[in-house]
This record gives sequence, structure tokens and C-alpha cells, in this order.
Amino acid sequence: MKDIIIIGAGTAGLTAAIYGQRAGLSCTVFEKYAPGGQIVNSPSIENYPGMYGVSGYDYSMALFEQAQKLGAEVQFAEVTGIDFSGKAKKVFTTAGDFEAKAVIVANGAARRKIGCKGEEEFEGRGVSYCATCDGNFFRGKTVAVVGGGESAFEETEYLSEICDKVYLIHRRDSFTAAKTAVDSVLKKKNVTVLKNSVIEEIKGANAVSSIVLKNRGNGSSAEIPLSAVFVAIGLIPDNKIYEGVLKLDERGYFDSGEDCLTGCEGVFVAGDTRKKVLRQLVTAASDGAAAANAAANYIRKNFND
Ligand code: NAP
Repeated sequence: MKDIIIIGAGTAGLTAAIYGQRAGLSCTVFEKYAPGGQIVNSPSIENYPGMYGVSGYDYSMALFEQAQKLGAEVQFAEVTGIDFSGKAKKVFTTAGDFEAKAVIVANGAARRKIGCKGEEEFEGRGVSYCATCDGNFFRGKTVAVVGGGESAFEETEYLSEICDKVYLIHRRDSFTAAKTAVDSVLKKKNVTVLKNSVIEEIKGANAVSSIVLKNRGNGSSAEIPLSAVFVAIGLIPDNKIYEGVLKLDERGYFDSGEDCLTGCEGVFVAGDTRKKVLRQLVTAASDGAAAANAAANYIRKNFND
């Protein structure tokens, strides 16, 4: 049996692995995509203490290496089911079934979709959820970014450097991104901000060629020719396999506080997957440390071997 199984290799999960290993416990991390989580898409990190201008990818790789150097095992496999009813916590994955003394769920959250006509049809053919991954395909072209939060402004900033023109489309008339990010984007000559606007349809033949945009103020619609739509409208939790086992809030996030406890002995949650006010690297790292510390205390009390 493993000491701690950690589900998710983002900042919360890998920080939990670092703290768990340093507490003398063997940690196995399961990750279905790549290490780093959401931040891997960020071109530059400016708000993590002591780190300025490091790319999300470089940060993710450094964190991944740090956890491994301390002895954590990282397996690239999807967790498909759990059984937390016994003292040995069971985790079922695409790489097999495992047991641990404690589990930390740090599975982050998935990208939210617009839900408009054409979005699903053109995913991978002009509809993207990651500018740093796909932006280069649209070098010199006209593109749109949807959203008004940190991600939308980061994506717009990045795309404005490589694309001919970027429309930033937001459904309201005010933004939630940091003022420095907003001010920087508003200064860009090749960025046009379209507020109070929603995409009704993404159109094209083989690939995206235009969008139909509706102005929520006056109800008018217009067709705008472009080559890509980058959707950056936030996250949604993906906690279905825990329903009925761990308490979720009305939005599907784990209903756990900063102590990262779940009400299920030996099971802890960390990072964006739990309800919280501020979803940032620094709060994810904080959760990872708190969850690992709680797991270590639990194991010391409940396992004498
Ligand atoms: P977010 O902060 O939740 O913002 C989502 C944006 O998309 C909001 O402007 C929202 O508009 C809009 N939106 C939501 N649903 C929509 C829909 N169906 N159609 C059109 N627009 C929609 O999401 P995020 O920017 O992806 O960030 C996610 C989390 O990561 C946040 O906690 C953020 O702070 C964090 N993050 C931090 C950094 C950084 O610090 N460098 C970078 C990236 C992300 P309304 O305002 O109208 O709801």
C-alpha cells in the first residue's frame, strides 16, 4: 500500500507531493494530461512571489522535477473511480488499481465552453482553449479571444504579438482581470475590445472563417470574418466520480475549507477543485502544503507500521 496517492499534477498536487515526501511519506501522483495544470498555458507568470516573467511551461517543468527529485512518483494515467469506504483508500486508474493510506484530490478544473453553435464542430480547426498551444497556427491572421478574466487578457496579450488583429469579446462592460493586464491590452493598436457581446455562432467550411456576434445592449448581430476563436471563460470542476462520497457545493467544487479536510477520514482536497475565493498559483501551493500536512498527521495517528 502507498502512503499518499495524489490525484492531479498541477501546483496543488505537486506541492502536496513535495511536502509529503519531505515528511518521509511515499507519494504517487496521477496525472491524465501533462504536469503543471492550467498554468502550463500561461506565457508569463508575474504574480508568484519571487518569480517574475517565468513561462508557465518552465515553471511547471521545474515543479515536476522538484517533486521527482524528492522521490515522488508521477504516473500519467487517468483516475476513473474511487472507493474511500475502507481504511485502505482505493483509487482505480487506467494504469491499474491502487491503495493508499491517504488520498489528496488536487484535480483542478476543466475549461468552460461557450456552448454556442459551431464551437464543438470547429474545436481543433479554429476553436481553441489555449493560445500558447495553438496561437502559432494563426500567425498573421485575425483571431478573437472570449472572456474578461485573467486568462482572456493573457491570451489577448500573447496573440497580439503574433496575430494581425485580435478581437477581445466580453459579455459585460467591465473586466475581472488585474488592472495592469487590462491597461496593457487596451494600449495595443491591433486589439479591438467588443464589450456587451456574445458569440452566437462560429461559422466555416473546413475551418473557422467567421463568427456571428450579438450585441447584448441593442440586440443587433454582425458577422465578423476571422480565423480562430480562443475561448478563455473560466473553469468548471470535474468532480463527478466523487459525487455522493465527498461533499460538493452547488457549483460542483469540493465543499472544503482552507484546512483541506473533506469529512471523509484520510481524504483531503487541494487547489482549484475546492470552493475558494481566489484561484491562483499561490493559493494552490498553499493548499498542497496544508493537505499534505493534514495527510501526514492522519497517517501518523492511524497507521503504526
Ligand atoms: P474567470 O476569472 O472565471 O473569468 C471568466 C471570464 O469569462 C469572466 O469574464 C466571465 O464573465 C466570462 N464568462 C464566463 N462564462 C461565460 C460564458 N458562458 N460566455 C461568455 N463569457 C463567459 O476565468 P479565467 O480568466 O480563466 O481564470 C480562472 C482562474 O484562474 C481565476 O481564478 C483566475 O484568477 C486564475 N488565473 C490567474 C492568472 C494569473 O494570476 N496570472 C492567469 C490565469 C488565470 P463574467 O464576469 O460576466 O462572469
